[in-house]
Amino acid sequence: MTVLISRSPLTGEPVGEHPVHGPEEVRAAVGRAREAARAWAACGWAGRRARLLAWKRSLARRLPEVAELVSAETGKPPHDARAEVLLTLVHLDWAARNARRVLGRRRVPSGPLAVHQRALLAHRPLGVIGVIGPWNYPLYTPMGSLGYALAAGNTVVFKPSELTPGVGVLLAETLAEAVPDRPHLLQTVIGHGAAGEALARAGVDKVAFTGSPATARKVAAICAERLTPLLAECGGKDAVLVDSSADLDAAADAIAWGAMANAGQTCAGVERVYAVAPIHTALCERIVHRARVLRPGSGPDAAYGPITLPAQLTTVDRHIKDALAAGARALLGGPESLRPPYAEPVVLADVPEDSPAMREETFGPVVAVNAVRDLDEAVARANASDYALGAAVFTGDRRTGLALAQRLDSGAVSVNSVLGFAAVPALPFGGSGASGHGRIHGAEGLRAFTSPQALTVRRFRPPVDLTSFTTPGRRATRAIEAGRWLHSRR
Ligand code: NAD
Repeated sequence: MTVLISRSPLTGEPVGEHPVHGPEEVRAAVGRAREAARAWAACGWAGRRARLLAWKRSLARRLPEVAELVSAETGKPPHDARAEVLLTLVHLDWAARNARRVLGRRRVPSGPLAVHQRALLAHRPLGVIGVIGPWNYPLYTPMGSLGYALAAGNTVVFKPSELTPGVGVLLAETLAEAVPDRPHLLQTVIGHGAAGEALARAGVDKVAFTGSPATARKVAAICAERLTPLLAECGGKDAVLVDSSADLDAAADAIAWGAMANAGQTCAGVERVYAVAPIHTALCERIVHRARVLRPGSGPDAAYGPITLPAQLTTVDRHIKDALAAGARALLGGPESLRPPYAEPVVLADVPEDSPAMREETFGPVVAVNAVRDLDEAVARANASDYALGAAVFTGDRRTGLALAQRLDSGAVSVNSVLGFAAVPALPFGGSGASGHGRIHGAEGLRAFTSPQALTVRRFRPPVDLTSFTTPGRRATRAIEAGRWLHSRR
């Protein structure tokens, strides 16, 4: 039996040991999930809501234990891990409480051609959802898929990242304990990429993938073989636009946090800043002032933890060096800021737009702050990216902020804050282009795991039945002419 040992990124010490699942075992898990889906459907909206809220309460009670494991496997400081558990609870709560309102069967207008029909819209669960997750937010990120999929009436087989298998196992265990009368609602399968591949091939009804665009392409190719629908939540290269009317202290504070929190390992973290020229220098000084005091580490005073995936340091190093070689200025730190497993904050300015630090996901505590002529140029540069996940706008005028936000090709935009959307469970989250497709969270995130079903119920025989051979031709022609007359006038 092959085992996967998860290790602390801080010490290399083992955190847990988990048997790896082969394709046979993954298929068996999907089979059990399919059986379980029938019993889950029979619970109805109220039964599912009650059970998911019981799970939520149990996770809330066990918050310290769950956070400790998140912290052990990712290396993030305990307070960051606890905040992640809290965010997770907020989403599970919303999904459980809102599934019926969003997805429950409802009447829709029948329209003039079908006044004799009662028209209804239902949302049926898809069946079994395969969730493949990343390591950077090992609890919060997969919950965006699996919590919403369960609330919509599906069962789930979850393949956590090979760096955070223990968190995946704990998720399934806590649900099984909180809902003992419905086994196999959530099963965890363990392994590297091969286990993810096996899950995508195992006959699931949809794959919800979160990870890098490179892996998403591989998963999409597997899904294409069976026409399995795919929800892809990939990386980002989020931009922040700063206008001259903005509160620069507030903007700098948010940018420093958005860029450096979780060591920059956030899909919607701040990686690019476009500030209008008159305030560029002042903004840079304020960002440096705030970032200079941030210290990575493991204790309660640490601003953030280590670079969880050691190989990522090579990418971060390349981005910094390429930018400097191309003429960028290092306002804080540089290649010397990388001291495995940690990376100190790095602030760059005047980074050429074609350098990797502006085009590829860095996924480290590095931020590039460039000057632009005006906000039009800021929007154009922000949009000139393969990624389109999140963004932010800082301005003294909220109306300008909203107008600018709507010109950005991003799935989510915050005005006068960063990542404002992440804690609002009613808002959908997702991107386009290299950032993936589809949405988690909110009503869209519930609908993503259902198939809409159109229903009509005939209420009476219509005066002119266009779906019957018994309707005299002349009468049908007159009715069509009357319809044509109406539509050519309004
Ligand atoms: P990754 O692509 O390396 O791995 C993601 C998952 O896919 C892991 O569970 C991995 O084992 C699995 N996998 C690897 N190869 C596979 C294959 N061939 N078939 C099926 N599954 C396979 O990503 P990562 O390093 O774990 O996570 C970091 C990335 O995730 C970053 O790009 C980050 O931006 C992104 N991310 C996105 C969001 C979002 O919501 N948009 C959230 C968190 C992280």
